[in-house]
Amino acid sequence: MSSLPSEHLASPKDLPSVDRLLHGPAAAALLDEHGRTLVLHEARALLESLRAQALAGRLDATRVETDALVTALRDRIAERLRPRMRRVINLTGTVIHTNLGRALLAEPVIEHLLAMQGPNNLEYDLARGGRGDRDDVVEELLTTITGAEAATVVNNNAAAVLLTLAATAHGREVIVSRGELVEIGGAFRLPDVMASAGARLVEVGTTNRTHAHDYQRAINERTALLLKVHTSNYAVQGFTASVDEAQLAAIAHAHGLPLASDLGSGSLVDLATWGLPREPLPQEKLAAGCDVVTFSGDKLLGGPQAGLIVGTREAVRRIRTFPMKRALRMGKLPLAALEATLRLYLRPERLTQDLPTLRLLTRPAADIRAMAERLAPAVTHAVAPRFAVTVEDMQSQIGSGSLPIDRLPSAGLALAPAGTARKGTGSALEALATALRALPQPVIGRIAEDRLWLDLRCLESPDMLTAQLPQLQRELS
Ligand SMILES: *Cc1c(COP(=O)(O)O)cnc(C)c1O
Repeated sequence: MSSLPSEHLASPKDLPSVDRLLHGPAAAALLDEHGRTLVLHEARALLESLRAQALAGRLDATRVETDALVTALRDRIAERLRPRMRRVINLTGTVIHTNLGRALLAEPVIEHLLAMQGPNNLEYDLARGGRGDRDDVVEELLTTITGAEAATVVNNNAAAVLLTLAATAHGREVIVSRGELVEIGGAFRLPDVMASAGARLVEVGTTNRTHAHDYQRAINERTALLLKVHTSNYAVQGFTASVDEAQLAAIAHAHGLPLASDLGSGSLVDLATWGLPREPLPQEKLAAGCDVVTFSGDKLLGGPQAGLIVGTREAVRRIRTFPMKRALRMGKLPLAALEATLRLYLRPERLTQDLPTLRLLTRPAADIRAMAERLAPAVTHAVAPRFAVTVEDMQSQIGSGSLPIDRLPSAGLALAPAGTARKGTGSALEALATALRALPQPVIGRIAEDRLWLDLRCLESPDMLTAQLPQLQRELS
């Protein structure tokens, strides 16, 4: 704070009353646009904050002039009305980024969502003219795509696992390999989910090796289910052994028990088709004999948040009719988005164009590098002289816990402090990252090895970035 001579400071008595502040024509326009409730609330809050500053001897006299007060009020109202959830530009290099909203919805999906805002046949059978089931919206698509006998959907995959466990194993035992007791970022830990579902977890085998006889020995009259969990976000390497679904299904069915598989990400198409690291497919797990397979809607599937449950008619019926299903069901808009996304899978040859997640994952590194070369001069201009910009090869990640050890060759811009900014590299980079996040469409990069990395894999249109460069330049100067 600069210390101003006291005659330039305002005292609390220089501040107008709320009534007087809202009296003039400029304030009338605000009242007209926003109504009394919001304008009054913000006017009071503004005057209160200025009064505190005046009392502390920190309020410049120019700030209590009518024009300045109305401008401050208008800014406050605009800030209050600004959405907290905002579109950002993901240059982290992680395509399915859980903190940035995971999969991006496809254009036709968004159009379908807008249309479904109005009344729709969510739970209405148009053929019979009576009550319908919201699962009908997607069940046929899911069974067609996965080959399952039946399917149901819930709020997310955590809910799908919880519901599957509760409906099939409440008060009984579920056998899981010790090597598969996963934690998926934050609150989803398999043993906790098991407890929430009221099922008793029976761990078998060891962290690195579990054998068929480990499962066989653990089966008793309290056993309700065998569960296989895809270790989506870590890999156990070296001296390892696990029992695959086909073997487990044989063991389970020999005892009259069902087998469930939580795939986590679960891609509906074989990513190896496009040279990407392979993820297990629900259709393979069903073919191997699983009675239930659960997976997410907003990971590799590329749709909205959803938990998909596919399996045998009997297993899915039990899950669908369990009372907890009502608490975990999908809302109409995510369900509309899921249907429109699944419909894209009917034309798999077009998926790398139609589905943004797959479009980004299959983007050739050479294209990304060419974009980086084109953008480098403009970005250099915006951040010079404090930062130097170079085009670099980078390694993108698929993200969302899938395929943690696989990387996709990518490219982008690396920004390094230059000249005097080199003295405080860490704080200079933090300031740069903060300035990027302060843009109207915040740009999210990654700081590592004394540089700020902007991986351009997820930047499909460079205009979104270039349009904001003048503002970035102002923020930095
Ligand atoms: C991601 C994941 C979940 C949780 O899925 P959400 O859709 O995020 O609720 C559960 N299990 C596995 C193995 C996962 O990878």
